[in-house]
Amino acid sequence: MYPKPFEKLISHFTSLPSVGPKMAERLVLYLFKQDQEKLEDFAQCLEDIHKLQICKQCFHIAEGTLCSICMDPRRDMAVLCVVEEPLDIIAIERTRSFQGRYHVLGGVMEPAKKNSVAAPLHIPELLQRIEDENIKEVILATNPTTEGDLTALYLKKKLEPFHIKVTRIARGLATGGDIEYADEITLTSAITNRKDL
Ligand SMILES: [Zn+2]
Repeated sequence: MYPKPFEKLISHFTSLPSVGPKMAERLVLYLFKQDQEKLEDFAQCLEDIHKLQICKQCFHIAEGTLCSICMDPRRDMAVLCVVEEPLDIIAIERTRSFQGRYHVLGGVMEPAKKNSVAAPLHIPELLQRIEDENIKEVILATNPTTEGDLTALYLKKKLEPFHIKVTRIARGLATGGDIEYADEITLTSAITNRKDL
């Protein structure tokens, strides 16, 4: 019932996470009403997104081999904040309450498959960084979910041989809540009031 390009765009939007058919229709209709310049810019951004890379040091999104945070000499090199996904970095950066650097795990461990899931996470790279980069503190900022807590405990054990400070973000965040969606004040207090693990 829609013209072909319209129909195709709706199906693209529907394939995105959290977008249902109704929402997809509304988005495409919205785009249809925008001026040429805005649409061209939008199309260009879509084209450019695949040129982005994954930072080879921390696994954040990067424009080159290293992300802007890893390249920033003003960051505190001795502190690493371990997060699940790049979006968590964006949320924490927004608070401006953390001056160290990050390490993205790329997910969390699942209780049922404790050991099989550990492999694809960037845990070996984290341990290597602690050895190579003279890290003094690791903040475990996985989400306060069952999986996030399990992963934090697993990491704590893995970090014991290094004899460094290991902290966990405070319980300011609601249990089961996501760092990504936390408001800035809650997130700032979760980082500031982190506890030794
Ligand atoms: Zn990086």
